[in-house]
Amino acid sequence: MIVTKQKKLDDIARNIRGSVFIFGCGICSDTSRTGGPKEVLAMREILEDRDILVTGTYVIDAMCHIQKTRKAVRDNKDTVLKSDSILVLSCGSGVQSAVIAIDDSKKIVSGVDTMFMGNIENLSSLKEMCSLCGECVLNETAGICPVTLCPKGLLNGPCGGMKNYKCEVDGNMDCAWVKIYERAIIQNTVDDVDNIAKPKDYSVKKRCATVKFTGSHR
Ligand code: SF4
Ligand code: SF4
Repeated sequence: MIVTKQKKLDDIARNIRGSVFIFGCGICSDTSRTGGPKEVLAMREILEDRDILVTGTYVIDAMCHIQKTRKAVRDNKDTVLKSDSILVLSCGSGVQSAVIAIDDSKKIVSGVDTMFMGNIENLSSLKEMCSLCGECVLNETAGICPVTLCPKGLLNGPCGGMKNYKCEVDGNMDCAWVKIYERAIIQNTVDDVDNIAKPKDYSVKKRCATVKFTGSHR
């Protein structure tokens, strides 16, 4: 899921022009506690306390889904139409779904900062474990990602700073490369991990990427 954090309220209020409709996202922003039903209602009250007219609110179950966002805009057409601004409490993808789904005259305001793709450890802890590098090395690293979990992103480790199995950058963290070797020993794949990894080709990580499926796969 995509982890977000709320922007400062003053920044949000400053960006809103005139009246505002608030959209939230019921999956990632709900889990991040930045744009689920509770946070959307709380934001409504905060903005109304600042004398900003809130025309309506709606939580879309996945705002990165452009067609669902289009439908939500259609379902709330009357109130969206009479709003000057649209506040979106979802990740940058959701904000841009709104840009596509809503006519250009409306000012789309982002209410959150998009941080990372995270695993849900429990209801109050989200952890980055993959940074979407575009060329996965997990098959060579016993299933543990050094690109993300080693602060230096080392493909060959551990570095000389590892001490007592802990990371030299953050002593509270286990060294990712120690974890990789621990698993490789159990799995008898140390030879694979010992192979010197070549420099990573970060050019495979393309910006503005699109994947199109051909035929029906469902
Ligand atoms: S190597 Fe790490 S960052 Fe890259 S795709 Fe695999 S898990 Fe994600
Ligand atoms: S101690 Fe381990 S996790 Fe920390 S920077 Fe060095 S190799 Fe990476």
